[in-house]
Amino acid sequence: MEKQSGNRYPDIEENLKIVRHSIAEACGKAGREPGEVTLLGVTKTVPPDRVNAAIRAGLEVIGENRVQEYLGKREMINLDNVRAHLIGHLQTNKVSKIVGKADMIESIDSVKVAKAVSDASLKRGIVTDVLVQVNIGREDTKHGVMAEELEQLLRAAAGFSGIKIRGLMAIPPIYDTEREKRAFFSDMCKLFIDIKGKNIDNVAMDILSMGMSADYREAIMEGSTLVRIGSAIFGSRS
Ligand SMILES: *Cc1c(COP(=O)(O)O)cnc(C)c1O
Repeated sequence: MEKQSGNRYPDIEENLKIVRHSIAEACGKAGREPGEVTLLGVTKTVPPDRVNAAIRAGLEVIGENRVQEYLGKREMINLDNVRAHLIGHLQTNKVSKIVGKADMIESIDSVKVAKAVSDASLKRGIVTDVLVQVNIGREDTKHGVMAEELEQLLRAAAGFSGIKIRGLMAIPPIYDTEREKRAFFSDMCKLFIDIKGKNIDNVAMDILSMGMSADYREAIMEGSTLVRIGSAIFGSRS
C-alpha cells in the first residue's frame, strides 16, 4: 500500500515549489498576478506513481503527448481533482479514443481534426475545450497552422458545436539568443490579441499556452497564461 501522507518523491515536491516561485517572480516582473498563469505538468514518460506524487503536492493540470500512453496510464492516475490536457499531435484516427477522456485538446491544427473532435464530442453529448496550435517558427518539422491561416481555421471551426475554442498554443523553435526567444513569444501574443479583437462567435481567446522548462519565465513576461513544464518538475526524461 502506498502511503498517502509523507512523500516518497521529495524531488518533485521541491521542484514544484521552485517552479511556482519562478512563475510568481516572472509574473511580478511583468506586473501580472500569479493567478493569471496556469501551471501544467507535462507527464509524458513519467510513471503514474510520480504523477500522483505531483498531484499530492498540489499539481492541478497535467499534459500528455500521446493518446496511447495517456490512455494506458490514466486508470493509475488520481484524476479526481485534476484536469488532463492532450498537448501532442492528434491524428484523426485517434480522436474517438481521446474525446471524453481529456479536459482540453491543445493541439488542433486543421479544420479536419477540429471537425472530428466536434463530431466525437457531440456523439458523447459533451463539448470539448480546444486550443489551436500555431507553428509560430514556420518549421517543417513542427505541427500547427501558419499564422496567416489561423483566422480562416478559426472561422471554419467556430461553427462546430461540439468544441469550444479557448485559445492558442505554440512550441517555438530552438533559438540562439534570448532576444530571438522573446520575439517568438511576443509574436504569439500579438497574434492572440489580434484574433481576440476580432470577436469571432464561439471563439473565446482566453488561454495562451506557451513556455516550457527552459523558457517559461520569458513566455510569462510576454503574456503566456498556461505554461507546460515537464523536466523542471519531474527531472530529465530518459
Ligand atoms: C515535452 C513537452 C513539453 C515540456 O517540455 P520540458 O522541456 O520537459 O518542460 C511542453 N510542451 C509540449 C508540447 C511537449 O511535448
